[in-house]
Amino acid sequence: MDDLLRRTSDLAMEFLKTLQDRPVGRPVGHARLLADLGGSLPVHGEDSLRVIEGLAQAATRGLVATAGPRYFGFVVGGALPAGVAAEWLAAAWDQNAFSYVLSPAAAVAEEVVRTWLIDLFGLSPEMSMGCTTGGTMANFTALAAARHALLQSVGWDVETRGLFDAPPLTVITSEESHVSIFAALQMLGLGRERVIRIPVDEQGRMRSDELLTVLTEVRKPALVCAQAGNVNTGAFDPIPEIVPAVRRCGGWLHVDGAFGMWAAASSLYQSLTEHIAIADSITVDCHKWLNVPYDSGLVFVRDAAAHQKSMTLSASYYATNAEAGRDNHNWVPEASRRARGFAIYAALRALGRAGIAEVVERCCTLARRMARRLAEHEGVRILNEVVLNQVLVRFVPTHGEDADAFTGEVIRRVQNDGTCWVGGTFWHGMHAMRISIANWSTEERDIDRSAEAILKCMHMAT
Ligand SMILES: *Cc1c(COP(=O)(O)O)cnc(C)c1O
Repeated sequence: MDDLLRRTSDLAMEFLKTLQDRPVGRPVGHARLLADLGGSLPVHGEDSLRVIEGLAQAATRGLVATAGPRYFGFVVGGALPAGVAAEWLAAAWDQNAFSYVLSPAAAVAEEVVRTWLIDLFGLSPEMSMGCTTGGTMANFTALAAARHALLQSVGWDVETRGLFDAPPLTVITSEESHVSIFAALQMLGLGRERVIRIPVDEQGRMRSDELLTVLTEVRKPALVCAQAGNVNTGAFDPIPEIVPAVRRCGGWLHVDGAFGMWAAASSLYQSLTEHIAIADSITVDCHKWLNVPYDSGLVFVRDAAAHQKSMTLSASYYATNAEAGRDNHNWVPEASRRARGFAIYAALRALGRAGIAEVVERCCTLARRMARRLAEHEGVRILNEVVLNQVLVRFVPTHGEDADAFTGEVIRRVQNDGTCWVGGTFWHGMHAMRISIANWSTEERDIDRSAEAILKCMHMAT
């Protein structure tokens, strides 16, 4: 074990040292990767050290430098050193975070994380919290709690009776709700398409006037899904206007704040998150802006009883603990699982309140720097108000060619170039490059180097 873990630590260090300079996400040959890693399942076990060295060698070409400072695709974060180290310990300890008796330390770590984040986000102290695999399962859990509470309010116990013959629920999303909301609805039997989608404004914010109109018409209990941080523009739904409207009709307001909620940690950006604290449920990702390694999401629910009833499982051998510590399984869909709390705990402690604010503020400043650097050039258009860490860029060719195709070509060239990695999206029917800055290690020089590479790719595509 000694040699194995020391060597593994060296291999990890070697990788991390190359992060600054390795091509970020160039295409690799799928067939070659499969051949290197694949073959048939060995009959006899191999030496562990050789297995790990072989894995490191075979996998390296297929690794994307998402942990590095110039990965700007999707909305991902990197991995803080303290978080990585805590994950190693969690794996070595092999704690089962299911219940208090299975791991008092894992239970208490989650309890501490709950208290600290309630404080950081300014949430109500009695909100319950679950540590999920990510934003998708956090949304699933939040909407399951909502389903419980809303159906209970009309006398229906959905956990025991299911949805067959249940009174109908009204589900309201925005046109720009994240796909994981629809995935959660589809898994919960609420129907991905059986929803009222509220139109959005030019930045992708839910139109509260439209929501108000819809809410005055619905009679049934309503579940409203709002969002803090649009994955394209970074924009926030107008929560201060949405909250009272949902309250008035006795509905449940869910806010998906996967990355946007971290703005609450900064005095410069927290006004964006105003009133989110009084939502009924909130989801946050730790593996995005907090830069905790995968997989790590959180769900907060105001009605703790509804949260627990929608998730709980029970069996005669689940001895309840005498010390009344937290049973983590009450707040997530899983039973046995990894002790996710340790890495979140370590990240929060390593950054502190000021450190989290600094990461958020630096990323937002860098997003504006990127937008400015690119916009100086003819043929570049920034499509969004850069209110947070997201930048949408469109490339318009000088000679009447198709801007959608041209933008696609620039994105393709940037991805092949390897200096940085950016993805594409469609915004108001236009093809756009989407740049997301959420990594703790990104600095000005990474932005400047990346902006140069993007502009070079644009000129070469001309
Ligand atoms: C990333 C994201 C999700 C999904 O989270 P996962 O952690 O990928 O499951 C949901 N909502 C928003 C707004 C996101 O940015």
